[in-house]
Amino acid sequence: MLTKAPRGTKDILPAEVPQWRFFEEKAREACRLFGYSEIRIPMFEHTELFLRGVGEVTDIVAKEMYTFTDKGGRSLTLRPEGTASVARAYLEHKMQGEAQPVKVFYTGPMFRYDRPQAGRYRQFHQFGVEAFGSQEPALDAEVVMLALFFLQSLGLDKLTLHLNSVGCPECRSRYRESLRAALRGKVKELCPDCGERYEKNPLRILDCKNERCQAVTKEAPLLADELCNGCREHFAAVRAALDALGVAYVLNPRLVRGLDYYTKTAFEIMAPGLGAQSSICGGGRYDHLVATIGGPDIPGIGFAIGIERVLLALAAAGSGGAEAAAPDVFVATAGVTPAEALPYVMELRKAGLAAEMDFLNRSLKAQLKLADKKGIRYVVLLGEAELQAGQATVKDMQSGMQEAVSLGGLCAYLAERLKEEN
Ligand SMILES: [Zn+2]
Ligand SMILES: [Zn+2]
Repeated sequence: MLTKAPRGTKDILPAEVPQWRFFEEKAREACRLFGYSEIRIPMFEHTELFLRGVGEVTDIVAKEMYTFTDKGGRSLTLRPEGTASVARAYLEHKMQGEAQPVKVFYTGPMFRYDRPQAGRYRQFHQFGVEAFGSQEPALDAEVVMLALFFLQSLGLDKLTLHLNSVGCPECRSRYRESLRAALRGKVKELCPDCGERYEKNPLRILDCKNERCQAVTKEAPLLADELCNGCREHFAAVRAALDALGVAYVLNPRLVRGLDYYTKTAFEIMAPGLGAQSSICGGGRYDHLVATIGGPDIPGIGFAIGIERVLLALAAAGSGGAEAAAPDVFVATAGVTPAEALPYVMELRKAGLAAEMDFLNRSLKAQLKLADKKGIRYVVLLGEAELQAGQATVKDMQSGMQEAVSLGGLCAYLAERLKEEN
């Protein structure tokens, strides 16, 4: 127990961190170009926020939340997603008074008690964006473009964009009845989950991965055919905006989000290399979310991208091979103790050079081997006699060339050599 992380959690080891930073840097850069500012939301919220803002009938809220009572008797929940928190922050800080739309992004861990599988963890990480305060279809197109632009900047191509409109509460409640009517005699053929969904949330039956459920719903009516005029026009305008940008997409009428605050545009982006569940980005409009958590009726749209899933897709595509940078300098000693060497190492660091040294009293030969293994280009040899003469020897590990350098001029000499290298 003590030497094993909890099920569904994962250490991100030093060798993996460059990939994560690569992801995060590209995300920041894409958001900067698109005008989305970073927001940092708390790791936990009042449970009530997720009950309302994610929805009690969702799997997330019904089965997967990490909920606990704190010492003050409050029910709190580790955030299972970011959108509800951002909507709460928008209201709490009266951002409706700022210039609209308010466009923000976040990255960080989320928590869901889910069955762990490839690329899916109980503590997982998301990068997401949200834009509040506009129903303009061009904003939907911008959000889709941001997701695509970002994923492409990582080196992922072969992306497939799936697009749908889930309508508004008005056209959807009409559609819900026609879907129930169409499935009425077939409820027993559905999987147990969908049996429950039939009453509570029948739209979700359409995106069930169970083959039997897919067969049962094959002939079912589609929401796309029953949109009200307002929703139909909005969807046409979103598609026209994407067409004008030359973006290819698949119209997927089975792409649904069952809750009433989700409205109009829904989209997913798929990447190869992840097996059957190949979605790496899900997004769409939620024009009634802010009202659902107690605010005025303010529209919003956003997406979330699972970082672990994207890193898997990148590995499958053989792309994004970021590596940790090696230190600049290794200070090797002969007849000089680590404590005596440390002040010289510190001088190098203060001059902006990443410097390493030996702490195990290795032989000089073993120290050179270590520097080589770490991929360090320059080794500074500090010997007893050299120190007395105020000198060190700098060895270029690539060419094998050695040069005597005065200790006073060491930092400037190495800085110059490293500058040439870059
Ligand atoms: Zn509608
Ligand atoms: Zn099902």
